Amino acid sequence: MRLATQLGMGLTGVVYVLDEPSVGLHPLDNERLLRSLVELRDRGNTVVVVEHDEDTMRHADWLIELGPGAGTEGGRIMFEGTPADCMRASASVSHTGPFLARTMGVLKDAKDFAPDDRWLTVRGAKEHNLRNVTVAFPVGVFTCVTGVSGSGKSTLVNDILAAAAARRLNGAKVIPGKHKVIEGFDHFDKAVQVDQEPIGRSPRSNPATFTKLFDQLRDLFAQCPLAKVRGYKASRFSFNTRGGRCERCQGDGQIRLDMQFMADAYTECPSCRGQRYNRETLEVRLHGHSIADVLAMTVSEARQLFRNFPRVVEKLDTMEAVGLGYLALGQSATTLSGGEAQRLKLSLELSKRQQGRSLYILDEPTTGLHWLDVQRLMDLLFKLRDAGNTIIVIEHNLDVMNLADWVIDLGPGGGRAGGELIYAGPRDGLLSEPRSATGQALAKWRQHAAE
Ligand SMILES: [Zn+2]
Repeated sequence: MRLATQLGMGLTGVVYVLDEPSVGLHPLDNERLLRSLVELRDRGNTVVVVEHDEDTMRHADWLIELGPGAGTEGGRIMFEGTPADCMRASASVSHTGPFLARTMGVLKDAKDFAPDDRWLTVRGAKEHNLRNVTVAFPVGVFTCVTGVSGSGKSTLVNDILAAAAARRLNGAKVIPGKHKVIEGFDHFDKAVQVDQEPIGRSPRSNPATFTKLFDQLRDLFAQCPLAKVRGYKASRFSFNTRGGRCERCQGDGQIRLDMQFMADAYTECPSCRGQRYNRETLEVRLHGHSIADVLAMTVSEARQLFRNFPRVVEKLDTMEAVGLGYLALGQSATTLSGGEAQRLKLSLELSKRQQGRSLYILDEPTTGLHWLDVQRLMDLLFKLRDAGNTIIVIEHNLDVMNLADWVIDLGPGGGRAGGELIYAGPRDGLLSEPRSATGQALAKWRQHAAE
């Protein structure tokens, strides 16, 4: 809406800065967006876009790549130049060029799975714009649900299927959107919706507490010689209870300043200097590091330190595998992005023992991910599938569609022009479906690859 207003005003000499405008857009809608951005440029404006989207990069006049890694491993300029130069850059210089040039791509290291005779079928879906559709999802298979923005994907998958699954399999008290019946829940023990909701609203939750890694770390600290001598139990190393924490800030590490009519401000606790614990607790050291030092470490750093503790390494490995190696273990949940929260949830699922009878539902999991991270994510999802689970992903990302075992396409348009089932079947069949905008986008994308 804001962009449309800007286009209408016809200003020149303005700098426009956009952060991932392609999120949630079907490739077709994204093309329209790109035309608008090019139009702004042509009028004499400067457009700066932060993006992972391949088409946006191809349309850019100039690319600036930061890296090489994320967090503490990033922060350097890796490449500056035209997209054509970027494509010629070697993989040691640019992590983006080889993917743009298609000399590298997101690959599937697993076999395609075809449906057997087990199905999860939604009959008579009528919520919002869905036109009384019946859709069958194959069990034990990786399915990608596609369609232009507003075609009814989220309504079908989140509002109806995920809600009904949570109610039926997990005993949640949610009311699913309008539909006649869903058959096939007997193939599942539980449903897991890996969404982008925060992992906690309090600054006391963080990646370590969320993944239960913190419990293991506290046990390890309680086993240190000094802790044993002093009789410290694992609870001593919690910042939520009295005993080991700094009482001035009650383990927050920061003190809230009441700003009267303005938003609250925080300042570092002068007693513990942001370390959350009292002096005695911090004296206990594991390989020279206090519990506060460990919470300040990134996942990758902690993996080095705890390399001899298999159970800790296992958890850290799954966090690294979802591309969160740069995240600090004690980083407050309130500062994590939606994408980071989603990947943490996924890593928690991956660290559990796989029973092979789970239904996983993900909404645009590649949002905010570079190709290298998309590759990691796909490897993990296919691992879950190989263990016998069912994966249903809503996605606009063509790399993901291109690997899916099964594609369900809604459309043909958005809003009133949508709500129909356009295609359901193996991904390649989508290419010959004349009414599918997604099929056209995928065909065009593959053509790029062949060039
Ligand atoms: Zn304090």
